[in-house]
Amino acid sequence: MLKHILKALTEGPVTMPGPAPSPAALEELGQRVAGAARVRLGRSLAIREVDAGSCNGCELEIHAINNPVYDLERFGIRFVASPRHADVLLVTGPVTKNMAEALRRTLDATPDPKWVVACGDCAVSGGVFAGSYACVGPVEAVVPVDLRIPGCPPRPEDLLSALLALLEVADASP
Ligand code: SF4
Repeated sequence: MLKHILKALTEGPVTMPGPAPSPAALEELGQRVAGAARVRLGRSLAIREVDAGSCNGCELEIHAINNPVYDLERFGIRFVASPRHADVLLVTGPVTKNMAEALRRTLDATPDPKWVVACGDCAVSGGVFAGSYACVGPVEAVVPVDLRIPGCPPRPEDLLSALLALLEVADASP
């Protein structure tokens, strides 16, 4: 034990530092998302996150959206507690058998206009869980998907760019 404590104190973390976000690029992207949301919705964008079976790696990056580094709420991007208040369902993970019905019901509870975004490789294609006996498959195997964000996990900037593309080009589900 003492050996491990000494090693931790003398060698520091073994993880690599993450890429530093560019404040200027983030500001520009965030302002564009805020502007697109105002044009498309007449207000800010509300997101309901649905973990359909993720390892929670994607959630760490999604949580980073609200941390002091990114602080995307300043651009009017809000996470809401109920699908009834959401414009976007941001779905992570492969869809496990236990979450398939819950995901369908969550989509049904979301008012129009609404979009479904598959966030991360698992949500897009099944990722490392593809073929698992516990999974139905990627998100599109359960509900229609409007946008796919690859990555394991995608970075907050990727999420922001994808939301911008969604607001600018995607058709809202009827
Ligand atoms: S894409 Fe990667 S980080 Fe996200 S749920 Fe799958 S394995 Fe985890």
